[in-house]
Amino acid sequence: MKVLLVEDEQKIADFVCDGLAQRGVAVIHCEDGNAGLELACKGDFDVVVLDIMLPGRDGLSILKAMRGADVSTPVILLTARNELGDRIEGLNLGADDYLAKPFFVEELVARIHALVRRLAGNRQNTLQVGHLTLDRIRRHATCKDQSVELTTREFSLLEYLMRSPGQVFTRGQILEHVWGYDFDPSTNVVDVCIKRIRSKMAELSPQRDAPAMIESVRGAGYRFRHPI
Ligand code: CA
Repeated sequence: MKVLLVEDEQKIADFVCDGLAQRGVAVIHCEDGNAGLELACKGDFDVVVLDIMLPGRDGLSILKAMRGADVSTPVILLTARNELGDRIEGLNLGADDYLAKPFFVEELVARIHALVRRLAGNRQNTLQVGHLTLDRIRRHATCKDQSVELTTREFSLLEYLMRSPGQVFTRGQILEHVWGYDFDPSTNVVDVCIKRIRSKMAELSPQRDAPAMIESVRGAGYRFRHPI
């Protein structure tokens, strides 16, 4: 899950970024309206969280320009408590939800998940490849009907790979989608996380076939193996 946050108030941006990251949601933050619109239009975000009062270009104008350019990424507007006019205008312009400031980050996370579920439809509430099933609502994984205890980061990484079985993802892509910020490309957090997932899978599978679910592709990255 990858979210774009366009918010110029540093204090709010910090608590949202920290709160989302702790809950396994990768977040890219941008403080300027024009830069926010450009990023939003490049796509590749599951949800855009838009503040309304922004330098450069305001949130409602970003939303209008996104919808005008046929960018259908779901948008949650952050509104001031009493700005009914902004909310109504935002919903009319194609916002999917709004949240009045001040808010708890838990509520924003719940709304992001609710929005993604609503748009993805019931069909994608569970993701299954081979013996492994991810329940994307309960954020819970099972392998051959046995529960697998995963951290939010491990879950997000598996979810990312399993959405496109067989496709190779570079460490940079995985870092960006699962961790959500520019990491030193020489960091080994991806490898460490994959190693932990593999060892958890290996504990469940005495036949030792499960660790190969995530394949290392030399010089390229990782992929989730297509079941035979
Ligand atoms: Ca603002």
